[in-house]
Amino acid sequence: MKVTIDENSGFCFGVTTAIETAERELQKGQLFCLGDIVHNGQEVERLDKLGLETIDYDDLRTLHNVRVLLRAHGEPPSTYHIAKRNNIKIIDASCPVVLHLQKRIRETYQTLHGKNTGAQIVIFGKKGHAEVIGLEGQTNNTAIVIESINDISKLNFTCPIYLFSQTTKSVEEFEAIVEEIKRRRTAVKNLESGVESQDTAVFEYHNTICRNVANRVKRLQDFARSNDVVIFVGGKKSSNAKVLFNNCLEVNSCTLFVSSTDDITLEILQQCHAAERVGICGATSTPKWLMEQIRCSLENGAKRL
Ligand code: SF4
Repeated sequence: MKVTIDENSGFCFGVTTAIETAERELQKGQLFCLGDIVHNGQEVERLDKLGLETIDYDDLRTLHNVRVLLRAHGEPPSTYHIAKRNNIKIIDASCPVVLHLQKRIRETYQTLHGKNTGAQIVIFGKKGHAEVIGLEGQTNNTAIVIESINDISKLNFTCPIYLFSQTTKSVEEFEAIVEEIKRRRTAVKNLESGVESQDTAVFEYHNTICRNVANRVKRLQDFARSNDVVIFVGGKKSSNAKVLFNNCLEVNSCTLFVSSTDDITLEILQQCHAAERVGICGATSTPKWLMEQIRCSLENGAKRL
């Protein structure tokens, strides 16, 4: 059994920057982080041991005169308002890619606001995900969030649609949604042809999926193909991990999801032991040290079989 770690897997620059910022700022004194710094329990635990205290929105409202780190996912305007009111110093580690997307959505909202056109700002993303909450906040929470192609029936195809995507969603799914919206708009037009508003209703779509994630898919699939068994390491709460895991599964049906060494069962060990090439890879929120731990666990476990 030869075990290889995918050199392209691991933290993206947004997450790396947020973690480095946390490590640096912790040296200056007490530091809170609004929400888990990364969707990876092991990394959260490591930083917790260094003193990073994770808080939620309820805690934020009650804290005063402290320092709070904002993670890479970005935040809605309300977070900055609370911080200002409570004299909280914000250490902003929001990823620049997310901030740019927030700005585009905010500008679209400001342009459309009050025009009474029935325009819909639509975000393809996971409801309740921190990044999506931040994006919805740019529209005063008026944006429509669609989680999958099945949700597009929520939209009014006779009114303008401005579609954006959460940065970690699948490009293929986004493209399928775009095609389906186009198809439904045409269907509506054909049904009620001659109504002027249908001919002029705008459909703008912006593929705002992070290139860091999109470019990973091909390389990750090549890696998955080149191994007999793939151990995908990711946090259970990470949407990016789910997308990338499925990408591996598409090309290698022997892809297994684990979050920590605790998930390495006897069955997994036996499957790896029987394979010639075992590949370990992960999401943008998976630390390299965790993939190394998984490698040790597999190698040591296999020796005991
Ligand atoms: S995946 Fe992209 S947008 Fe998200 S934190 Fe990483 S670099 Fe930033």
